Amino acid sequence: MRALEELTEVSENLENKYVSDWRNQGKKVVGYVCSYLPEEILYAADILPYRITGKGVKDTSQADSYLTRVNCTFSRCCLELGFSGGFDFLDGAVFINGCDHIRRAYDNWKAHQSALPFMYLLPVPHLINPEGRQWYLEEVVKFKEAIEAYFEVEVIDEKLSEAAAVYNETRRLFKKLYDLRAKDEPPLSGTEVVSILSAAAAMPKKEFNQILSELIEETEASSSKATGKVRLLVAGSLMDDPEFLRNVEDLGAVVVADALCFGAKNFWDLTDESGDVLEALVDRYYNHVPCPRMAGEYSRRFDFVKEQAERAHVDGVILEHIKFCDTHGADNALLKKDFEAAGIPAIELERQYGPLADAGRLRTRAQAFLERIRR
Ligand code: SF4
Repeated sequence: MRALEELTEVSENLENKYVSDWRNQGKKVVGYVCSYLPEEILYAADILPYRITGKGVKDTSQADSYLTRVNCTFSRCCLELGFSGGFDFLDGAVFINGCDHIRRAYDNWKAHQSALPFMYLLPVPHLINPEGRQWYLEEVVKFKEAIEAYFEVEVIDEKLSEAAAVYNETRRLFKKLYDLRAKDEPPLSGTEVVSILSAAAAMPKKEFNQILSELIEETEASSSKATGKVRLLVAGSLMDDPEFLRNVEDLGAVVVADALCFGAKNFWDLTDESGDVLEALVDRYYNHVPCPRMAGEYSRRFDFVKEQAERAHVDGVILEHIKFCDTHGADNALLKKDFEAAGIPAIELERQYGPLADAGRLRTRAQAFLERIRR
């Protein structure tokens, strides 16, 4: 499938060819962490939003002298790439106070000589209520003004509405792809879908939408590779490592749905294109499927993950989190209890991100879980 190969190649390179082409046109690229950033503001400023991850890091020795060994390996890998020039193709970086780990990664990178020309922290409330919504609106407006001032651009409503439409199209296409995944004969493996999600976060959306449309056509015409395999949903934090899912799927399973920070949680909600576009973006990002960082929203999260599990009629649920990630770790403990109570087998898998990933232990635990389901 040509489209799948194209997106897989994009997902495998930190500075992929679409980023290089964009920069060669003299245009800016700004990195960001976390799905609470309204990317459309950057896109409307003709700046390419690029999701920062710790892809391809071999060791975190520099970052470890600034962060500790009890900080999550994702935050340490991101900082390592920042320090070592891995993100020098970016013109700036926008962080969110998602958790203290990523917050400290930002503080250390900003204070270091390797800091990018534009470094920004967008505070996001941890509660969903009218006061929080007002605060988030004010912060998003401040962010928009900071982008306009620093990059000497103007973010006009017309461009913002255009960006909102392009991003909604991406979300609709992903829902189509996830409908195909949920079929009895899923045409794509979870490993392949992680690469598609990764590419989506690192290239211009218009080009991505074009390729994803082609991929859906190719996929609809192709036959399944997953007959008779154990059907799984994977939920949790940032998952851009196809190897993690490959290790599970090689054991005779297929991941047919997810509730990942990079996946369904990130694209399930559309922006209302009927009214004031900035207000609509604020509503969409503030209220989208809540991350565990949002206090008091557990039941919404459980309902969403359960809905995804039921629509793909899975046999079991994998709840993954990165070691020392209390945000997702605590949530997964509750989700496991509630899924088991609902009669859906669930397993918590704690993992490392990047170079410390421990495939052997994960495979052993996944093997035992699959045997339990098959019994
Ligand atoms: S994985 Fe968890 S601890 Fe690490 S940056 Fe994300 S939310 Fe924070």
